[in-house]
Amino acid sequence: MLKIMLFGATGQVGQEIAAAAPMFPSVILLPQTRAQADLSAPGAAAEVIRRAAPDAVINAAAWTKVDQAESEPRAAFRINADAAGEIAAAARAVGARLVHLSTDYVFPGEGDTPLDESAPTGPVNVYGASKLEGEDCVRAVNPDAVILRTSWVYSAYGSNFVKTMLHLARTRAEIDVVSDQIGGPTPASAIAMACLVMATNTGGPSGLYHFQGAPAASWADFAKAIFAAASKPVRVNEIGTLAYPAPAPRPLYTVLSCNRILRDYGINQPDWRIDIARKIGEFDKKSR
Ligand code: NDP
Repeated sequence: MLKIMLFGATGQVGQEIAAAAPMFPSVILLPQTRAQADLSAPGAAAEVIRRAAPDAVINAAAWTKVDQAESEPRAAFRINADAAGEIAAAARAVGARLVHLSTDYVFPGEGDTPLDESAPTGPVNVYGASKLEGEDCVRAVNPDAVILRTSWVYSAYGSNFVKTMLHLARTRAEIDVVSDQIGGPTPASAIAMACLVMATNTGGPSGLYHFQGAPAASWADFAKAIFAAASKPVRVNEIGTLAYPAPAPRPLYTVLSCNRILRDYGINQPDWRIDIARKIGEFDKKSR
């Protein structure tokens, strides 16, 4: 049997990991909530790892409030960088394989060709900077860790773009959506499967991996596809990022090249259009 400790059990990816874990018969999942290990408390996560001595650890916990991170950088860095490093060190100390999640927001977003794992980073906001420092903290103490960068996560859980759009569709006939940020919507369920495959593949390759849904899209493209899938007659007005000011600046282009994860693990990019078409009823029900 393979004991996998999961941080961030109540998050989008965490809940999908809990849902998918039974498909891996050898896995015993040890899900950790904030009540069991508060990552704002130094040492808390390391202590639960030390006590349980799992075979693998998945860190899906993070400060994900991108705008709020601008005014609370210390809290964001504490969870996304310091705690990530503590988890990585504790995992190594007990000999556990680590899968750590990161983000496309480590990139500046200035290019127009897909970014592979060697592309230069340069975050434009505090959240991205805290996640990039998290990657460095993890690598520094645990060179065998898997670091999986993903993007634009959605699911039936928590809050995300799909649920926001479906909620707005109840009262709005038209909506302004940014069309000059290009990235990849990614189902949390697909990230969960990738994490479990990589965590259970003891002795498998490690290092940095990109994983994102395809095809590349703007938020406006994504919104149109959501309304079409849900048969909601909402008109999408395409606007520029400058017309939608937010506390945290966003990178404009974060399309990730996902060849490495395909080559090493046989994991394909999920097609988010097929995913939302299949699950739209579930998302709509949970967006009320
Ligand atoms: P969520 O925001 O849905 O979940 C975050 C999880 O972290 C929750 O379980 C939350 O617990 C936990 N957490 C936050 N603070 C603490 C704390 N102080 N102590 C313990 N647990 C804490 O995140 P996602 O599932 O969407 O994201 C998973 C990963 O993917 C993260 O690493 C994120 O950076 C990355 N990512 C996410 C993207 C997105 O669009 N959401 C895009 C790109 C990457 P609680 O429920 O108690 O708050």
